Amino acid sequence: MENINWSDLTFGYMKTDYNVRSYYRNGKWSDLEISDSEHLNLPIAATCLHYGQEAFEGLKAFKGKDGKIRIFRMRENALRLQSSAWGIRMEAFPIEQFEKAVVEVVNRNRRFVPPYESGASLYIRPLLIGTSAQVGVKPAQEYLFVVFVTPVGPYFKEGFKTTPVGIYREYDRAAPLGTGTYKVGGNYAASLVPGEIAHKAGYSAVLYLDAKEKKYLDECGPANFFGIKNNTYITPASSSILPSITNKSLIQLAEAIGMKVERRQIPLEELATFEEAGMCGTAAVISPIQRVDDVDNQQSYIFSKDGTPGPISERLYYKLRAIQYGDEADPYGWVTVL
Ligand SMILES: *Cc1c(COP(=O)(O)O)cnc(C)c1O
Repeated sequence: MENINWSDLTFGYMKTDYNVRSYYRNGKWSDLEISDSEHLNLPIAATCLHYGQEAFEGLKAFKGKDGKIRIFRMRENALRLQSSAWGIRMEAFPIEQFEKAVVEVVNRNRRFVPPYESGASLYIRPLLIGTSAQVGVKPAQEYLFVVFVTPVGPYFKEGFKTTPVGIYREYDRAAPLGTGTYKVGGNYAASLVPGEIAHKAGYSAVLYLDAKEKKYLDECGPANFFGIKNNTYITPASSSILPSITNKSLIQLAEAIGMKVERRQIPLEELATFEEAGMCGTAAVISPIQRVDDVDNQQSYIFSKDGTPGPISERLYYKLRAIQYGDEADPYGWVTVL
C-alpha cells in the first residue's frame, strides 16, 4: 500500500477499504453486505448502547514468505462469539457465515495485510451488537454483525521480552458466576480503572485474583495466564476467565514437545515455585512476565532477573508464530490459507 510505514504500526485503528455486515431482522440473518463506510447508523435506544448487548472477537491474518495470507483458527472465534452471544442473550451468528465474512473482509483489504518481513499482521475485529430501539431491559429483537480489519504492528518491537505485572485486590474484572467467560465489552469497561492504575505504576497489565476468595490466579486483563515448572505448563481453571484460543493452542504445542499440562486452580503463593510465567492472547501470542508484584502485600515474585524470557516461553512463542506465518507446517489444521 502506497503510504503505510509498516515498521511504524502500533496496535491502533486505521480505516481500511471495506467492512462486511449482516443484519438480523424478522427472525433471520441477511446475506453479507459489503460497506466502505466506517460508521454505523443506530437508533439512540439500541440495546448495545444502554444495556451492554455487545460481544466481540479478535483474530489475525498473516502474510507468509510465500506471499500467501493465512488466517489463524477463525472457526474457534466463530464458536466463541456464539458462546458470548448466548451469554448475554443475543442472536448467535452462524459459524459458516462468520468464516465467509472473515475471508471476504480480508480478501477485500489485501493491500492492508503487512508484508512478511515487517513482523506486523492484519487484525480482524468481528463485532455483534443488539440494535433494536427499546428502553425495557430485555434482549433486542434485531442485531448487527460487522467485521472490520486494521493492520497492526509487531507486539515486540525491540524483540521478545518480559514485562512486570501487578496484583490489586481492590478490583475485580468479572464475578465468579458473571460474564467473565464471554468476550463482552462490559468486562473491559470494568478493567479500565485498575488497568490505568497499573499502567501508571509501570505494569503492563493487572493480574486478577479470583473475585470470591482472592486466593487463586485468574487472568491478566485481556490475556490468559500460564506458569511453567518441572516440564509442566500450568494454567488456571476458573469460572471467570475467557477461554483464550492462544492458550488452547499453546497447550497443544506444549504437549507436542513432551510437556505435561495442568489446568487447575493456582494458589497465588505457587508463583514462588514457577520457573517461568507469561500472558497469552492474540495480540502478543506470549507476553512473558518479568515479575509479579503483589502490590497490596509489597511482595514480588521474580521470573527473570535480566528481562530475558524463559526458554520454554521462547520456544512456544516461536513455534506458534512459525505456524501462523507459514514458516512451519501446520499439522493441526489451524490455518486457513487464502
Ligand atoms: C480475547 C481475550 C483473551 C485472549 O484470547 P485469545 O483468543 O487468545 O486472543 C484473554 N482474556 C480476555 C479477557 C480476552 O477478552
